Amino acid sequence: SLMKDEVCILKHSMEELNVTAYTDQLTTIPNRRAFDKAIKGLFSEYQRERRYFSLLFMDIDHFKSFNDTHGHAVGDKVLSFIASLLKKGIKGDDMVARYGGEEFVVLLPATQYEGALTVGQQLCDRVAKKNLVMGGEDKVTLGNVHISVGVATISQEDDVMSLVARADQALYTAKEQGRNRVVGERALLGCSA
Ligand code: GH3
Ligand code: MG
Ligand code: MG
Repeated sequence: SLMKDEVCILKHSMEELNVTAYTDQLTTIPNRRAFDKAIKGLFSEYQRERRYFSLLFMDIDHFKSFNDTHGHAVGDKVLSFIASLLKKGIKGDDMVARYGGEEFVVLLPATQYEGALTVGQQLCDRVAKKNLVMGGEDKVTLGNVHISVGVATISQEDDVMSLVARADQALYTAKEQGRNRVVGERALLGCSA
């Protein structure tokens, strides 16, 4: 019927709106809003069932100077490329999102600290080993870009904000220690790794 068709069309366009609202335009991966929703969901699962999860905070190294050297449009392409690299580097229910600017986050459900460090290192290596090349016919080599990664795992006293703050602090330390590396929250306490 006409009514049924209209309802169907409406449902369809609402789904499209939803996808758009939760997708980053440039990279086509989930956006900050999608991340906020997902981490809240994981947090309530943790509260209900003690199901652990970990968080990776990542930021492209020296991206301002990359833009200055190669131009903002090339920078945009590199952002998309790195987003897809990260996406290919995770699996299952893991989620990568663009947190903003040249910052990405990865949510790792059912993952403890050591496992999260391993994934973080794999992603860091995956990005670092790529030699970026632009164009088809006359190729331009852009060299390598690196990311720094901060790692934190949900714990008893946490809420979403405190977990994010620790991952961010670990990322800051990774930058301080020279970039292109992974730092876990436990390193901030003076413990190993
Ligand atoms: P650091 O290693 O400390 O992270 O240095 P950085 O230069 O990456 O950090 P800074 O915060 O100074 O600069 C971030 C840069 O990221 C500057 C900005 O132009 C670039 N950037 C952020 N969002 C985008 C974007 O959507 N496209 C492009 N091309 N560049 C972006
Ligand atoms: Mg940044
Ligand atoms: Mg940066």
